[in-house]
Amino acid sequence: MDRMHKKSALAGTSSLLLAASDLGTPLAWDRYERQLPLCGFTSSGLNCRRCLQGPCRINPFGDEPSQGVCGADRDQIAMETLFQLTLEGVLETARAQALCGEGGGQEFPDIASGLPPETRQRLASAGLLPVRITDLFRVQNAFFSHKGYLGETLRDLVRLSLIQHGLLSQAAAAKQSGSAPAPEAQGLNILMVGQAPAGLACALEAAGQKAGGRAVSLFTQGSLACPAGRPAADQGSPELLLGMKVDAVLVAPNAAWPSLEALASKYGIPVVLAKRGTSPETLAAEVVDLAAHRAQNAFYGSAAQAVQAAPADRLPEAPALRAAALAGRVKGVVLLFGEAGVKQTFFERTLASMEAALSEQAVVLLGGELAASAEALGAELATRQGERLAAFAAALAGDGLRPVFPFGSAVGLPAAAALLSALPLPAAVAVPECYRASTWTGALGLVSLGFPVQIGARLPFWGSPWLAQTLPAELQTLTGGRLLAGPSQPEPRAQGEELAACLRAQGGRTPRSAA
Ligand code: SF4
Repeated sequence: MDRMHKKSALAGTSSLLLAASDLGTPLAWDRYERQLPLCGFTSSGLNCRRCLQGPCRINPFGDEPSQGVCGADRDQIAMETLFQLTLEGVLETARAQALCGEGGGQEFPDIASGLPPETRQRLASAGLLPVRITDLFRVQNAFFSHKGYLGETLRDLVRLSLIQHGLLSQAAAAKQSGSAPAPEAQGLNILMVGQAPAGLACALEAAGQKAGGRAVSLFTQGSLACPAGRPAADQGSPELLLGMKVDAVLVAPNAAWPSLEALASKYGIPVVLAKRGTSPETLAAEVVDLAAHRAQNAFYGSAAQAVQAAPADRLPEAPALRAAALAGRVKGVVLLFGEAGVKQTFFERTLASMEAALSEQAVVLLGGELAASAEALGAELATRQGERLAAFAAALAGDGLRPVFPFGSAVGLPAAAALLSALPLPAAVAVPECYRASTWTGALGLVSLGFPVQIGARLPFWGSPWLAQTLPAELQTLTGGRLLAGPSQPEPRAQGEELAACLRAQGGRTPRSAA
């Protein structure tokens, strides 16, 4: 099922899709369908662009070509693909962190001190701790030269994921507490795509004052943890956000989503480039002027939705969860993170995971771009499981807990993982939907810390049956964690049931940090 007939599980998305359709505006799903059929070599991890003798590809059906120019076979090429994906994930995190003014290539604190003793001992005995940022320059897919080096490559994959964990821990420590003020209904809404220049938030406020005392809300895309603005509840895509009451778009040099410029033009939303060398004051004055003009003249239509800010980040308090666990009100914790991608109905798999958690009386921690849509997900969960959700919420209210806690971007992952480790509760992790390399590396990081981690997207190594079989087993031996992934996607409900079974299998678990 490559074509997506139902694009999103969220009720509020359909009016945005209809509005785009009325304008004749293609969205990501349309462009995805024009790409079909996807390249089978690439999606199975069987092509290689490591050097300029290639690109090389391996026939997935056993015919020729069976080797790259250098002699690499399907197993070696699939491993190289996975290695490059994991490395790209660390680099994505490092770049985002540097752009937020954090880290800047400096050494991160020793991550070992924050790990449960059992995990620390296992990783140290495998030679994986301590881990340093300079290890980034030492890892390599040594397996490419000879299959006898598989163990080395696996250790390097784990090492890469631990480096990312260190970078995220460093970013979390540098994160400023508090958040931008709540948006005002009558204010101007500016969407920042990519990294906001330093000083922009203050400059926008001042420009708004000059423009007749208008409040200006700066929204960022869901997963970014930068303090300048508030992540917007974008229902899974910034393209959907443009169908809401956005008055101007600011595009940074590192912005993703090249489609936004044409889409904004269709909607009549002005786009301003945040070019290097332009002062925040000049940029703010230009964008506020254009946004005010747009707000004055635009006809948004009665169905246009207001831009909502993502809910504030919050993890539950460990003592409250412990008390609820001892009283039998909570029987597990499920950590879900990732982002919606066009290969699946947006959020359907996340909702199935949330339903499974609810059926097991497990509290859900929601991170990545999924966190930005937490309120809409909660509303849809209430539609599906109203009575059960209300009963669970009522049972938790006395503990100061609730069924779902959005914890924000990937920067919150180390704290969420530490919480899971410290609780006397069954715990499982799922990445029900994702497309970013950094999300994959984050998932591998949680496997490396010993968690069972379910992946809801197809990973690019199924073209090597040998690697597909060996990798999860070897990872478990090395880290104690389990990678729950398959070559094809089971139905969301079946995946939810696997998650629930994973929790049930851990009944009677004791806190790992106390081990
Ligand atoms: S398979 Fe070998 S020759 Fe081909 S691109 Fe990869 S490294 Fe180069």
